[in-house]
Amino acid sequence: MMRTVRDDWRVIIEIRPSATHIPLAAIGFGGLDGQIVGDPFEIVIAPQRLGDLGWVSMSDSLASRDIDGDYRRRCEALLAELLRRPHVSAGRVTCTEVHVCSHCDRQWEVLTADEAADDSTNVDGHSVEGEPACCGKAIEEFRTERGIPMPSWGGAA
Ligand SMILES: [Zn+2]
Repeated sequence: MMRTVRDDWRVIIEIRPSATHIPLAAIGFGGLDGQIVGDPFEIVIAPQRLGDLGWVSMSDSLASRDIDGDYRRRCEALLAELLRRPHVSAGRVTCTEVHVCSHCDRQWEVLTADEAADDSTNVDGHSVEGEPACCGKAIEEFRTERGIPMPSWGGAA
């Protein structure tokens, strides 16, 4: 079946230089008198890794039983904290999503109606739209759920 893999969690905040006076020291120009001007800009912040406990570093899967949920909560907590600062006008949490097959871990792809009807792209005459295209196990699972006859692997005619 299709499995969704989320990665690259980020907190993105928008800074409006014109709406508020940001001290130059905040961007490493301490001791100078001036101000940041111009259009709003964004800062992209990576959360601390779940497995990074400061005194020891381990894989995220060892540190968490709910990696997606823990990253989302960690990012939302950081965002809430950042939104309380005067220079931050807006923000959001983002991540990448990739759909993969739970059997073979390859990218999840399914047949279109045209591909299912085309003998050069379908498995056999029983292929239908939405049938996975990555591996035999995914196809068999799909057909079992729908009561579709199994493919005759090996080409028994
Ligand atoms: Zn597969």
